[in-house]
Amino acid sequence: MKTQTAVITGPQKVEIQEIELPPLGPRQVLIKVKSCAICTWEQRFYKGCSPEEYPFRGGHEVSGEVVELGSNVIDVAAVGDPVALAIMTRCGVCDHCRRGMDNFCELDEGGHPPYQLWGPGGLSEFVILEDYQVYKAKLGSNFDHLALAEPVACVIRSVSRPELEFGDHVLVQGTGIMGLLHVLLLKQLGVQVMVSEPDAVRRGKALALGADLAADPMSPTFERTVLDFNGGRKFRAIFFTAGGIPAIQQALSFLSKGGWLCLYGSVHPKGMLEIDPNDIHYNEWVVTGTFSHTKNSFRQAVSMLSQGMINIAPFISERVPFSSVGYAFERAISPDTYRVIVTF
Ligand SMILES: [Zn+2]
Ligand SMILES: [Zn+2]
Repeated sequence: MKTQTAVITGPQKVEIQEIELPPLGPRQVLIKVKSCAICTWEQRFYKGCSPEEYPFRGGHEVSGEVVELGSNVIDVAAVGDPVALAIMTRCGVCDHCRRGMDNFCELDEGGHPPYQLWGPGGLSEFVILEDYQVYKAKLGSNFDHLALAEPVACVIRSVSRPELEFGDHVLVQGTGIMGLLHVLLLKQLGVQVMVSEPDAVRRGKALALGADLAADPMSPTFERTVLDFNGGRKFRAIFFTAGGIPAIQQALSFLSKGGWLCLYGSVHPKGMLEIDPNDIHYNEWVVTGTFSHTKNSFRQAVSMLSQGMINIAPFISERVPFSSVGYAFERAISPDTYRVIVTF
């Protein structure tokens, strides 16, 4: 059968093309896509990257409905079920997969042929995936919300890393969509959440989403605010999502003994931290990072979204029909949007 799919052919060029889907193989599932969010990865191709990376089929934050099951499919979902799709492939047998660190699956490390059509391809009417990539949701689930399982799964890994206890105090640096998702998920863990963000409007959004306190990290009173937040004590964990090297450097001054510094975001341009090894030794600090999601965190994300346990609606800035996918990309790259959802 054929499917319409969105192809980025060059900078600011998206077109809908028709491609042939292969016949459904064993342990494969045919899905009618319902919602697909445009993430920063897709935006990078739309804004412009090196020529050999085109043409590119974007779309890795996807939900849909099961249309047909291939032979021998593991009992993941039935025809008609709403599902969230974990588009990234996992081999299940490499050393990382066997350790439960399938976010580092060696299958994903392979490159792609230059100048040839490639990419996750979720911006399509229909997709075929392996059964292990299909996560069943509750009947009646909101497809737009389910499409955001991937970013939620990444943040679930991040907030699960430190050994947090009820009543602990944590700091989230930055209030992009990833910083705000940290606020949302950390509040589920029974901790007090402070946000550091220079922009007052953005601080307001963090407070509206449940942050207990928000302050400007550049302000001369910032240190006082931090110490007042927890009776003179520093943070049990600090989650860096934005702000570059200066933010991480500042985080080191506000980490309690036994504290966790969790580097969720990457740093561009790259740079070096100044850190005294004795601070790590005497304070028993844990410095860690998280990258992407695992099958387990994806499973947790689908369960939470499917049951409406977190309010993801404020992250959906606009819904655009597939026929206007070019406009959807224009909106997605605008700084005033979080996620733009393409609907089918
Ligand atoms: Zn994403
Ligand atoms: Zn693997």
